[in-house]
Amino acid sequence: MNNNTENKNNETKEIKNFIRNIIEKDLAEHKFQNRRWCGQPDFAEQQNAADLDAAKIRTRFPPEPNGFLHLGHAKSILLNFGLANDFGGVCHLRFDDTNPEKEDDIYVRSIKESVKWLGGNWHNNEYFASNYFEKMLTCAEYLIKNNLAYVDSQTAEEMRKNRGTLTEVGKNSPFRDRSVEENLQLFADMKAGKFADGQHVLRAKIDMASPNINLRDPAIYRIRHATHHNTGDKYCVYPMYTFAHPIEDALECITHSICTLEFEDQRPFYDWLLEHLAAGGLLQTPLPKQYEFSRLNLSHVVLSKRKLIQLVSEKHVDGWDDPRLPTLAGAKRRGYSPEGIKLFIDRIGVSKSDSLINYSIFEDCQREVLNESSPRKIAVLSPLKLIIQNFHENEENFSENCTVANHPQKSEFGERTLPLTKEIWIESDDFMETPSKGFRRLFVGNKVRLKYAYIIECTGFDKDPQTGKITAVYANYFPETKSGTAGADSIKVKGNIHWLSAKTAVKAQINLYDRLFNTEIPGDDFISQINPNAKQSITAFVEPSEFSENICYQFERHGYFVLDQNQNTQKELVFNRTVTLKDNWNNKKPK
Ligand code: ATP
Ligand code: MG
Repeated sequence: MNNNTENKNNETKEIKNFIRNIIEKDLAEHKFQNRRWCGQPDFAEQQNAADLDAAKIRTRFPPEPNGFLHLGHAKSILLNFGLANDFGGVCHLRFDDTNPEKEDDIYVRSIKESVKWLGGNWHNNEYFASNYFEKMLTCAEYLIKNNLAYVDSQTAEEMRKNRGTLTEVGKNSPFRDRSVEENLQLFADMKAGKFADGQHVLRAKIDMASPNINLRDPAIYRIRHATHHNTGDKYCVYPMYTFAHPIEDALECITHSICTLEFEDQRPFYDWLLEHLAAGGLLQTPLPKQYEFSRLNLSHVVLSKRKLIQLVSEKHVDGWDDPRLPTLAGAKRRGYSPEGIKLFIDRIGVSKSDSLINYSIFEDCQREVLNESSPRKIAVLSPLKLIIQNFHENEENFSENCTVANHPQKSEFGERTLPLTKEIWIESDDFMETPSKGFRRLFVGNKVRLKYAYIIECTGFDKDPQTGKITAVYANYFPETKSGTAGADSIKVKGNIHWLSAKTAVKAQINLYDRLFNTEIPGDDFISQINPNAKQSITAFVEPSEFSENICYQFERHGYFVLDQNQNTQKELVFNRTVTLKDNWNNKKPK
């Protein structure tokens, strides 16, 4: 993983957490040292020799390809790939594609791009749950043969009713005592497509009175007449996630199966299933162990694929990579840096306690990283013409080069020059007709520095009598005060403003982004809480300079901006604002 995010708080890659402690202990006890390789035949065939070190830890990131990844997934990606990397192990990318109706290859491609973008490297360890469907059927049949599973023919409603509640035990299904032969036949008929969706379900036979509802005969196979993105129409029965996932982990010889806390109550079933299958010789030991950590909850966004799909499909945003979305594709297009995401994930840590992290913390991490890495540029977002009346009065086209540093603290970023001309653009709010208290920039009679150039004194302005709008400002400059020369400080000023030559400034469209939601926790009614001002497009001027895609620039005094990867044509530059220079959200009163 890229690790140029060490920061002033001395955070390093080796941040301790409870999962690291478990791995250190397992390695110290040589837990995986003597496992035979171990791999299940399907899996070992796909491995390259260099990877077959049985002593290594193996983790996995197992997304379901039913949507784009989001910042919550980033926590899981960085944790799983980070652990593998730090302990010399391997992290698999596994597509958990057991639900044919919602999965698509578009999602597979976007997931791979996002994992790579975050620095995750799975080498050749790319797997699909659907590649193990035959093996899973064998496992299901093994359970049936050993009276550990049965075909239930209750309706979904009856099953729900008989499941019981947290305080009430469940009731056995009237079909629970079907003979092994009958179950085998029924399951074969299910597979052969003789039944409609929902007509029968294969269930594990555990205990309808268990205090853990997940052990009350959980469903393990269901009928779905649907086309699967990978296996097409080959199957019409599909394994349930809770049945498939442990088997996938075991087949891939995962050592530490790390997931979010909502799966904690599934762990007894995870172990029950794997222990039975291993006892029957269908899986090799040592078996994987599941560990749970708390998911990332972030304010002012939604981190649920279902909600993200709704935002995209109902066109509340412009596609999955809309920069307002917390998707990783959106984050990339917004200009957020993967190092900033990593810093954020390191900073919030890995634990078992749930918390809501304020979006400002995420933005601060981005600022911290971007401040270091972003070249500086000048842009005028709300242009007002300023005319320097005494600037080479008789030479309309005179232009003087001013030297500008590309980074105020890093000389290795180099310098560039910007032309100063008689007519320049300044920010409209750098001038006030009647200055408010403490205003130190331009008003008639006041002096300011044009950054990297001269000190000027404001001499007058034009105003549209109809609208009251200021249309131009006039000033004189002091030729002896050029920045970087001996006379630079011969006049003392309190204000410092940026500018662009009106002759060479380049028009650009700039998208200013803000929080997608007005509320901290958007909840079920999230659509009504969308911030209508989360995107504002303005026409602005930027300096005449080279801008590269995928580099986030700091526009001085404004924040961080990146070229929009989707919209740039030869004709017009389009920038997205990544983040403002300072956190100004907390001062705002959202409606
Ligand atoms: P959603 O609930 O939005 O559909 P999911 O958890 O079902 O998301 P998966 O594709 O199954 O999505 O997720 C892949 C992995 O990412 C899982 O191991 C899951 O635990 C983890 N993950 C998902 N959301 C978060 C989150 N907010 N914080 C940390 N990890 C997460
Ligand atoms: Mg999931």
